[in-house]
Amino acid sequence: MENIFTSTEDFKRKYRRMVESEVGKDFEEADDNERLATLCNLVAFRSRPIHVKNDAEILAEKKKRVYYFSLEFLIGPLLENYLLNLGALDTVRAGLIEMGTTLETLAACEVDPGLGNGGLGRLAACFLDSMAHEGIAGYGNGMRYRYGLFKQQIVDGRQVEVTDNWLAKGYPWEVRRPESAVEVTFGGDVVRHQEGDRCWFTLEGGERVKAVPYDIPVVGYGGKTVNKLRIWSAEPVEEAFDLDAFNDGAYAEASKFRTDVEAISTILYPNDAGEHGRILRLKQEYLFVAAGIASIMRTFKRENTNADGTVNWAAFPDRVAIHTNDTHPALCGPELLRVLVDEEGLDYDTAWDIVTRSVSYTNHTVLPEALETWPIDTFRRLLPRIYMWVEEIDRRYREEFTQEHGDRMDLLRDTAILWDGKVRMANLSIICSHSVNGVAKIHTEILEREVLKDFYQLTPEKFNNKTNGISFRRFLGNANPSYSSLITSAIGDGWLDDASELRRLEAFYNDPVFLDAMSASKLENKQRLAAYIKDTTGVVLDTNTIFDVQVKRFHAYKRQLLNIFKVMDLYNRIIADPGFRPVPTSFIFAGKAAQSYVFAKEVIRLINAVADVVNNDPRASELIKVAFVPNFSVSNAELIYPAAEISEQISTAGMEASGTSNMKLMANGAITLGTLDGANVEIAQMAGAENIQIFGLTVDEVEALKNGYYLAWDVYNGDRERLGRVVDQLVDGTYARLSGDFSMIHDVLMHQNDADFVLKDFRSYVDAFECLCGKYADKRAWNRMALANTANSGFFSSDRTIREYAEDIWHV
Ligand SMILES: *Cc1c(COP(=O)(O)O)cnc(C)c1O
Repeated sequence: MENIFTSTEDFKRKYRRMVESEVGKDFEEADDNERLATLCNLVAFRSRPIHVKNDAEILAEKKKRVYYFSLEFLIGPLLENYLLNLGALDTVRAGLIEMGTTLETLAACEVDPGLGNGGLGRLAACFLDSMAHEGIAGYGNGMRYRYGLFKQQIVDGRQVEVTDNWLAKGYPWEVRRPESAVEVTFGGDVVRHQEGDRCWFTLEGGERVKAVPYDIPVVGYGGKTVNKLRIWSAEPVEEAFDLDAFNDGAYAEASKFRTDVEAISTILYPNDAGEHGRILRLKQEYLFVAAGIASIMRTFKRENTNADGTVNWAAFPDRVAIHTNDTHPALCGPELLRVLVDEEGLDYDTAWDIVTRSVSYTNHTVLPEALETWPIDTFRRLLPRIYMWVEEIDRRYREEFTQEHGDRMDLLRDTAILWDGKVRMANLSIICSHSVNGVAKIHTEILEREVLKDFYQLTPEKFNNKTNGISFRRFLGNANPSYSSLITSAIGDGWLDDASELRRLEAFYNDPVFLDAMSASKLENKQRLAAYIKDTTGVVLDTNTIFDVQVKRFHAYKRQLLNIFKVMDLYNRIIADPGFRPVPTSFIFAGKAAQSYVFAKEVIRLINAVADVVNNDPRASELIKVAFVPNFSVSNAELIYPAAEISEQISTAGMEASGTSNMKLMANGAITLGTLDGANVEIAQMAGAENIQIFGLTVDEVEALKNGYYLAWDVYNGDRERLGRVVDQLVDGTYARLSGDFSMIHDVLMHQNDADFVLKDFRSYVDAFECLCGKYADKRAWNRMALANTANSGFFSSDRTIREYAEDIWHV
């Protein structure tokens, strides 16, 4: 691969010069933040000409552009990834050492923008990486939140949320593009105009807001493609400062309007628990959709206007794909329709045809509480013209439906957009799209069979599966240098380009030298993580113990509670019987809970309370320890995954759409201890049954229990000795020292009948854990399992996922 720098000397010279011209200091005088910012600028600077070249090719070859609309992009730090992608990692690393610093020193200063909650936002970021790698003209369209997802601190075992002021020192990767700003209107009155038999509508008055884009380069591996992520910030249209009010002493009022407008892009909403229905959220959704569509229109018209000044609208679906990540961008359909008819003067049928051939939709959840709806009143008041278009889409849908399936009112009831005073965003998304996909095989099956079964009956051809994927370059290449270089020394570095090459590691299954080198690599990663955990929590882990890892958002269905029950049970057994010697294990947790999600925060508190007791009891702490790593984010995720030996993927079957940490951990050689849920099912198929530990209820069994008979007390009474004991300890003071007992959790289990089947799955889980740990003593056999996981993980590359989207959905 071509390196953007011809040599270390070349890099040093260019870098030095750039520090001088941009910072106005000698390199030696610049501080680490200035050095980092300039290094990022240098990389962006070198990659910009590639973007220009790509643009020319797109125009010449009439290539289709893909716009990926997502309210979240959890991009993580970019520097090391872009250096790897540009083939410049070794050059820059060596150059920096010669200049008296290190890449690690500078990279540590890079911010990790928290512009996403977790899996969904990280998926969008991996897709950007893969689109650029695959040479697709693919652009992210999102929001530039003033504050990212809160930073998590743990105080007395509880989660405390701290504002994430990620822009405080500026963000070196972004470029503000005020010349591409878009005006967006909220509220106002729709006015009808008539001239002869032509009639049209305009929106008068209302609150006008300026959406200003910031562009972040997306550098593809191989250095051939550089795309961009465009994120929007809300600003007042005119300088809205009220000088009179200010002079009268009303300082807050003077800038109130500015504050109101800017509120739109101030915060990222949590993806779980009770934050739905906020008007500000709907404003965000419309702002980034309207601005994104306006931006698409500008580019399209620039590139597809005929010599006579007419626009070649018929080409739109061949030049533009608009992908909607979940229902948050559901307004893409009606907004595109509005622009084509109201502003460009197309007739409805032509415009509607363009919409449905351009827009596609990914569903991410089966949780009914996550299916977005808006009260019609709120929606209409905020977006009066868009509402009329939604009404028209709904009216025509019903009309067509009645013609074709007149007698199936049951189907209409479940598929119409407007129902019961609500706008149903999933139905809107599906009706506006030519493709609807789930994110793992079993998830798509559940959509077809349960959640969206009515739509599936009506239009089965729209439905398809796209099993999620991850960036191997980031989560194995960048995150795990010791394992990466071991792999590369064995099979070359072709796996960075094509993860299916990892299959060639099969040749090393019985190679003792390779298997022992895996132990050394894992140990190095565990030491690195242990040092970080000691630093951030004070907990000292023994790197000879198994590292058992569950790191992800806190949610009832992800069942961190089941995991900590396992630890509580082990602790009880150790105390009760000095002869009981489980395989020494370090239980590592990390993850944030939505600020308003009380149950999830109680589980975090419980884990920390158990850690406090177990880690400080000398009878147990030689054998088991618990660590809660605060503030889970992409940057510390990259430390945790490579150190993991057991990957906890223990959601209630049927609830996790796909999961992606399961894939990252598999690639890094951790053995999955999991339920048959989401992508775990496919991981089990790929890895082989002997290289994964499956337990627990299946989707069908969960379904049967939900529809049939389940009583938590029965399970409790059936295992008083172990499970019963653990449940009792929630409220008997055993873990109350730090911050009190856990009656809410007890209540959810015993009085709300354990909706996530924690009690039901407990025994099969602890048995499966014990069985898996029993295999740890034979290190080579364990490493062979781990290697089989890495070797068979290539399918889960987001490059593969993106190729499937490109072929089946976007047709690029
Ligand atoms: C991959 C990733 C996730 C998703 O984890 P799941 O276990 O699939 O929910 C969440 N957060 C971060 C920072 C990630 O990197």
